[in-house]
Amino acid sequence: MFIDPHVHMVSRTTDDYARMAVAGCIAVTEPAFWAGYDRSSPQGFVDYFRQLTESEPLRAAAYGIRHHAWICLNPKEAEDHAFAKDVMALIPDFLKCPTVLGIGEIGLNRNSRTELAVFEEHLELAAKFDTLVLVHTPHLEDKHKGTKLILDAIRNQGSLKPGRVLIDHVEEHTVRCVLDAGFWAGMTLYPDTKCTAERAVDIMETHGTERLWINSAGDWGHSDPLAVPKAGVTMRARGHGPDAVRRITLENPRTFLSQSPRFSDQPLRPTAPDAIR
Ligand SMILES: [Zn+2]
Repeated sequence: MFIDPHVHMVSRTTDDYARMAVAGCIAVTEPAFWAGYDRSSPQGFVDYFRQLTESEPLRAAAYGIRHHAWICLNPKEAEDHAFAKDVMALIPDFLKCPTVLGIGEIGLNRNSRTELAVFEEHLELAAKFDTLVLVHTPHLEDKHKGTKLILDAIRNQGSLKPGRVLIDHVEEHTVRCVLDAGFWAGMTLYPDTKCTAERAVDIMETHGTERLWINSAGDWGHSDPLAVPKAGVTMRARGHGPDAVRRITLENPRTFLSQSPRFSDQPLRPTAPDAIR
């Protein structure tokens, strides 16, 4: 059994849910992110947030997978501050949905001043509604600098507990500062660039597996919704036992996510796929 705690299922086919279920997936969590194009109006986010909170839980349930969401405006669309404020005004209503765990994936993309301001406003929302937080760290610009800016902003916010914040897409040069500051860290497994399964296992062997999870971040781009169970196979090939695999693929995400009373990975009886048509 495994949990994929960061996967963009709106971009995946129903067959992917079926394949994930066969591979042992019992729960997914889906952060809000960029659609691959900029939405033309704040109202476009209402439809997207409804898809995350209404349609996807049903599509997942057809295969016995529990689906949860994170709501936010992603940093790629945060450059227009007035637009961002209109979208952020929509968020509190969606934070009340029974499958929403918190604010995410917020963070920085190009480490710009406006992105940072919108990031800080999201942190205030998370503090006000006492939710978990899932943070994206930049791939394009300097990841180390972006991660530092992010950690400083969370510390400056003052009331968010590091143990309730997950900093995602860590790599070899950012994992240590995230863990040392008391945050959770996520490693995203990409098929052939950035953090591959082999590199993720290197990181586990170097830094341990406390407060660490792995995810596929599967989306509309080149990505693999089976990356988590495949990393388990890589771990076994490298001599790690089933307990170690279970810890990183199931127990760690369960521990972090269970801090939200809305999270569940209890067995779900698959519903008939046709029921959602
Ligand atoms: Zn993502």
